[in-house]
Amino acid sequence: MKFDLHSHTFFSDGMLSPADLLARAIERKVDVLAITDHDTLLGLAPAHTAIAEQQLPLQLVNGVEISTSWYEFEIHIVGLAINPADTQLQQRLASQQERRLERAREMARRLTKHNVPDCLEAVMTLANGGAVTRTHFARHLMQIGKASSMAGVFKHYLARGKAGYVPNNWVSLMEAVQWIHDAGGVAVLAHPLRYNLNGKWLTKLMREFAAAGGDAAEVASCQLTPVQKRDVWALCQQFGLVASQGSDFHQPTDWSDLGRGLYLTDDIRTVWQQFPALFPQPESPVESSDKPQLCS
Ligand code: AMP
Ligand code: MN
Ligand code: MN
Ligand code: MN
Repeated sequence: MKFDLHSHTFFSDGMLSPADLLARAIERKVDVLAITDHDTLLGLAPAHTAIAEQQLPLQLVNGVEISTSWYEFEIHIVGLAINPADTQLQQRLASQQERRLERAREMARRLTKHNVPDCLEAVMTLANGGAVTRTHFARHLMQIGKASSMAGVFKHYLARGKAGYVPNNWVSLMEAVQWIHDAGGVAVLAHPLRYNLNGKWLTKLMREFAAAGGDAAEVASCQLTPVQKRDVWALCQQFGLVASQGSDFHQPTDWSDLGRGLYLTDDIRTVWQQFPALFPQPESPVESSDKPQLCS
C-alpha cells in the first residue's frame, strides 16, 4: 500500500485541480494521498466529492501545511488527519491567509522598486482565490521574462534577503502544533533538510518540535538519498518522533512526482503505524493458519 502524505492543489501553489491530482495519484499507484495545501483546507471538499462521484480507488487524508516562524526561519508543519469541519482551525488558517495577503502587497511594493511594477493584480489572478504564495510571484516573474527557471527566480528575487522577500510573522511553530492537535490531527515536520540548517540548528529544530508535542517528521521525499533518510530517522529516534513520507507534489517535474521515491525500510516506524485509528491501514498479512497448506 503506497502512502503519499504531502501534496498540493491549485487551491495553493499546486498546478492541478483536486480531481486531476487524484487521477494522477491513482495513475502513479498511490493508495493513500494527503492533500496538504498551504494554510488552507479549500481543496479537501472537492477532492472528497470527486472520490465519491467517480468512486475512485484511493483514500484521502485531510491535511494542511502550516507556515510557521521559528527564530529567523520559515518552518513548514504538515497537519494530517485534521477535521476539516473544525471551525476554530478554519478561523486560525484565515488569519494566516490575511498575513499572506498583507505580505503579497508588501512584496509587490518592494518589487516595484526593483523594476517589476504592478505585479499584485497578476499574482492574485494566478492565485485565483486560493492561498497566495511566493510560487505565484515566481510564475509571474518567469512569464514576464525576469528569469528562466523557478530556482533562478527564487535565487534572485524571492529567497530570504532578496529584493522581493518580506520576512513574515507566521504563527509560531509551537502554536501550529497546538492548532493541529486541537483539530484532532497529527503534526509532522515537513522536509527537514530543505531549510538549509546546519547540524546544530537541525538538531535544535527537531528537539524543539518534539518538545512542542510534534509527532513525526518527513523521512522520505522524492530527492532524499538513503543516507539522508537514515540521518533524519536517527534524529527522529533521538527525540521520539515517528516517520512520515510525502512527495510535496506541486506539478510533474523531471525530479518529482506523486508517490516517487517514497520508500522506508521496515525498521522505521511510520505515522500510520503509530496512529492506526487516524489512517487507512495496509491489509494485515495472511494469518499462518489461513495460508494454503502444502499437500503432504
Ligand atoms: P510561501 O509559503 O508563500 O513562502 O511559498 C513557499 C513555496 O515556494 C514553497 O512551498 C515551494 O513550493 C516554493 N519554493 C520555495 N523555494 C523554492 C525554490 N527555490 N524553487 C522553487 N520553488 C520554491
Ligand atoms: Mn509550495
Ligand atoms: Mn513546504
Ligand atoms: Mn508542501
